[in-house]
Amino acid sequence: MEEVSTTHRNETQPILTTGAGIPAGDKLNVLTAGPRGPMLMQDVVFVDEMAHFDRERIPERVVHAKGAGAFGYFEVTHDITKYCRAKVFERVGKRTDVAVRFSTVAGEAGSADSVRDPRGFALKFYTDDGIWDLVGNNTPIFFIRDPMMFPSFIHSQKRNPQTHLKDPDTVWDFWSLRPETLHQVTFLFSDRGIPDGHRHMNGYGSHTFKLVNAEGKAVYCKFHYKTDQGIKNLSVEEADRLVVSDPDYGIRDLFQSIAKKNFPSWTMYLQVMTFEEAEKCPFNPFDLTKVWPHRDYPLIPVGKLVLNRNPENYFAEVEQIAFDPSNMPPGIEASPDKMLQGRLFSYPDTHRYRLGPNYLHLPVNCPRGVQVAHYQRDGPMCMFNNPSHMPNYYPNSFSSPRDDPKCKDSTFVAAGDVGRHDCSEEDNVSQVRMFYTQTLTEGERKRLCENLARHLSEAQIFIQERAVKNFTDVHPDYGARIKSLLDKYNGDGGEKEPLHNYIRYTECP
Ligand code: NDP
Repeated sequence: MEEVSTTHRNETQPILTTGAGIPAGDKLNVLTAGPRGPMLMQDVVFVDEMAHFDRERIPERVVHAKGAGAFGYFEVTHDITKYCRAKVFERVGKRTDVAVRFSTVAGEAGSADSVRDPRGFALKFYTDDGIWDLVGNNTPIFFIRDPMMFPSFIHSQKRNPQTHLKDPDTVWDFWSLRPETLHQVTFLFSDRGIPDGHRHMNGYGSHTFKLVNAEGKAVYCKFHYKTDQGIKNLSVEEADRLVVSDPDYGIRDLFQSIAKKNFPSWTMYLQVMTFEEAEKCPFNPFDLTKVWPHRDYPLIPVGKLVLNRNPENYFAEVEQIAFDPSNMPPGIEASPDKMLQGRLFSYPDTHRYRLGPNYLHLPVNCPRGVQVAHYQRDGPMCMFNNPSHMPNYYPNSFSSPRDDPKCKDSTFVAAGDVGRHDCSEEDNVSQVRMFYTQTLTEGERKRLCENLARHLSEAQIFIQERAVKNFTDVHPDYGARIKSLLDKYNGDGGEKEPLHNYIRYTECP
């Protein structure tokens, strides 16, 4: 770029203005009484600049604060119209624009990318029937199956309110009190717990969804998107090194790869379960702590996801992007999955707080190629779709948007006693045992136990003991290995000095 003197203007340069477009006569010197001041309140050029600067940050996401975004397309490669009538899948070869955000979960916006943490893998499809957000992770499961515990779970993993430190006691206290976390904890401390950037990991819709075809017939489904780059993970040593030397490793790797036209891609698959199969399924198919075994519910190929454009502006397109699992166009619906049901509320609620009630007006969140037509009006930052030439109520007697019965939700039977059903005793170990004994190699098992024991050894002994019991319930070998490593790492066997001053009120069960 041509170097420009601050005192000599080049006639081709645009005139500097305030936010209101008023030309600024001098944007280098504040308005003062005499050369030494004081400043005058009427320096509105200064106030305009400073007041906007003071408001540059929007609230950080409580979870998934650190992320990378990119754009591209989804192309249908296989016909799944017998399952789903959503326009995004309407014919082989159809392309739909997509936005993707990858993220870590627990760290703040400035935290390092190469930490052991699940990764968010959120997809936004700009479909012909409005936005479809598939807000998944790099794991097909999650720590808990009841959304009531979500705020507590996150509190236990984030900073201690007194010390402002991550607290191994609270992390492991929660995990060990809730054995349904065992599956995800085991994934997290396996090699895949530290993916090598964002391009080398799989994505999963994680929840069970419902697909509805043109005849109105519904099936349950799960979405998988497998990396075409191949799975690659970082060793603990390399990840630790990158935390210091390149904390933005994941963002950099994705951005540079796309900038060099080395476009990452993923192949999307479905697993399908009929309603009849769901009735007979030996486990709850809507339980987010469980997978659907591949041999019973094989992967069905659907399409290709390609990322070929970097954001033009990180704040506008990545910090402000808002994913919402309740954005499901006709043909894709919610299942009874309690965690999904909880997220249907919490995600749009978060966006209304963080970005404002008109967050869907922001270009990156706006539907494309669709005429948005509704009776919502006004609110902060209302920019579009706020017509005054037609009624703002419905029904009405005038020519204005009407509903389309073809797009009604599918009907389904819901029965059962209304109650706060405790599902904590559901099978928390069988799939973890399968993973530990059959999916992992001996080398992977060894590293898993070492990773777990190192972290767990930072917690107090009574918490360690409760966790070891849970791992033993998965498999005696799992518990025994962790116990023996803990004995080594605990050294003198003395009680850990906690990072908090919480008073213990129960003995180890
Ligand atoms: P499969 O042998 O068909 O599937 C095993 C799966 O494990 C593969 O999808 C593989 O993914 C994945 N995997 C391998 N290593 C890891 C790791 N370190 N962390 C997370 N996932 C890994 O058997 P099942 O479908 O019967 O599943 C057996 C167990 O595998 C399950 O209990 C579950 O713990 C785990 N699993 C199952 C998945 C599923 O959707 N069925 C998905 C992921 C894990 P890939 O093929 O991409 O290498």
